[in-house]
Amino acid sequence: MDSLWYEMLNDTLCYANLWALACLIALVFTWQVSLRIAAHLRRLASFTDSRQLYHRMPRPRMAWLKRHLFDAPLLRTRHNREWQLSSAVNMGTLPGRFHALLLAGIVAMNVALCTNTVPYGDKESTVAELIRNRAGFMATANLFPLLVMSGRNNPLIRLLGVSFDTWNLLHRWLGRIVVLEALTHVIAWGVPKVQEYGWATALGTLKKPFMFNGLMCLIALLVILCQSPSPIRHAFYETFLHLHIALACVAVGFIWHHVYRYSCRYYLYAAVAFWAFERLTRFVILGYRNYRVGHRTTAYLEALPGDAVRVTLQLARPWTFAPGQYCFIYIPSIGGWTSHPFSIAWGETGPSFPGSFNEKVQLETGDDMVLEDLNSRKASSISLLIRRRTGFTDRLYRKAETHARLQMPPDNIGHPNGMGPAGGRPPSTDFRATPLKVSALVEGPYGDLHSLDSYGTVMLFAGGVGITHCLPFIHHLVQGHSDGTVAARRVTLVWIIQSPEHLDWIRPWMTTILGMEGRRDVLRIQLFITRPRNPREIRSPSETVQMFPGRPNVDTLLRMEGEHQVGAMGVMVCGNGALSDDVRRACRQRQGGYQLDFIEESFTW
Ligand SMILES: Cc1cc2nc3c(=O)[nH]c(=O)nc-3n(C[C@H](O)[C@H](O)[C@H](O)COP(=O)(O)OP(=O)(O)OC[C@H]3O[C@@H](n4cnc5c(N)ncnc54)[C@H](O)[C@@H]3O)c2cc1C
Repeated sequence: MDSLWYEMLNDTLCYANLWALACLIALVFTWQVSLRIAAHLRRLASFTDSRQLYHRMPRPRMAWLKRHLFDAPLLRTRHNREWQLSSAVNMGTLPGRFHALLLAGIVAMNVALCTNTVPYGDKESTVAELIRNRAGFMATANLFPLLVMSGRNNPLIRLLGVSFDTWNLLHRWLGRIVVLEALTHVIAWGVPKVQEYGWATALGTLKKPFMFNGLMCLIALLVILCQSPSPIRHAFYETFLHLHIALACVAVGFIWHHVYRYSCRYYLYAAVAFWAFERLTRFVILGYRNYRVGHRTTAYLEALPGDAVRVTLQLARPWTFAPGQYCFIYIPSIGGWTSHPFSIAWGETGPSFPGSFNEKVQLETGDDMVLEDLNSRKASSISLLIRRRTGFTDRLYRKAETHARLQMPPDNIGHPNGMGPAGGRPPSTDFRATPLKVSALVEGPYGDLHSLDSYGTVMLFAGGVGITHCLPFIHHLVQGHSDGTVAARRVTLVWIIQSPEHLDWIRPWMTTILGMEGRRDVLRIQLFITRPRNPREIRSPSETVQMFPGRPNVDTLLRMEGEHQVGAMGVMVCGNGALSDDVRRACRQRQGGYQLDFIEESFTW
């Protein structure tokens, strides 16, 4: 009778656990919806009120919350800047204050649910049995949110406007909680057993299938715990990911046979069903996006100076392009079945795309399918800008560079893709290599969680390749300003690059933006070159496009922009961790002075 009562109680507490998470989701949903409504109203108001004075004024309570909670790092300044023991050992980042509180709450709730209603005054073995069952139930129930959070196609991402990056953080912490609960379950089983019967008998029991399954599950979970810390994850991401998935399958397989008699099995079934559905969704997206009768997605690779590659994907099935989107690409001939996420820097609706290889692509796509797509507003090609690192991106760069090198006339040798001097002798012709064409698969679009349409003043900070995230917003805002569909009256891009040759990364797209109607009225660009080779390289082409040597003083830039602020200000940053932390600090300091929202995007999880 007692054990039945406790089993029902365990069930109830598992429910309570999931209900608490569901309530949290409902709270975030309500909060996000109210923010979206407020932003929409602000945008509408801006159409008739060009000065937007009301929206410039700060809301003191909101400013306090942003400064001390939502935008705050855990301690003083550091959040996105990684802790690095050396250039190879990356210890990861610290969660922000809000996320840290959330995680602490989840941990505390699990500790409380695992330990309450246990009669600690009873016999040791009774207490151990209750804790064993409770921890086992909780570990199984937590598998459901754990697997939901791990999916790229987690529906909560879009519903709550919470990025995959954040879900990933929660996934990691919930995973640790599950492992600790499973360990508690086994310890609470083992201690009384050994005390009563000794080690030999206790270990002998593990040979029974039921016990063996539980033990194997625990071992798989412990291995996951050991292989998932940040230094290992970042240093060997692909190996980590494959092993992680394989071990998760092993753990789920064994636990399936361990809990089949208990009511908590339903949480496991729900978790597995969700996981299978998410995987299936990925396959469906891949099939849908990349195959259409007579058409396949194709990638054009172009090596650029400064260790970067421009990848233009000609989509088999066009999609609606929006700022803030990213996608996963698979290039089987270079990366096998692995997929990598990249922000979409540009989307084109026509049969050609700006780049050094327009004509080539125009010829190849001049067929019925593309003419039909021309009439739609969907992007038929999207472009990515990829910085070379050490794995897939390195192979990608080398492949594109070798291809370009093979086409070069002899006097261009040493100038990858004819883009600039690498060995001293300038190129004698205006040589442009044809890009390398390879088969590719694209999965997406993902992201697109933030809108800057309601801000009268927008500042975008980009570090290096982080420009890919900012560029579509700039195009969208300049176009929106000219069409009268956005609140933006001042848009400032601050782009920090190491050398002027990096300007080539986005030259064709920037040329398009600079030629847009009304661009001079709204867009200002400030380029900061941190390692100019000689001072003559630093030339400001116009009043609205300025170039400076060194790093920007983010505080000063924000203060200057604040003096001319129109309406609410949206500050977006995409770059390395140090830049993000700098911009975050400057924004927090200015909170309360005027209405300001800080939005950050980081290229890591
Ligand atoms: C949402 C998002 C958007 C991004 N957009 C861009 C972009 O526009 N341009 C750009 O150059 N880079 C971008 N990145 C980073 C890019 O995905 C990684 O640099 C790339 O996957 C590294 O591949 P690699 O095998 O060469 O990495 P490695 O040299 O092996 O590792 C370098 C770093 O990349 C991480 N990484 C490796 N593989 C993956 C993977 N499959 N998924 C996620 N992270 C991985 C590792 O953890 C490590 O920190 C983006 C990342 C994210 C999460």
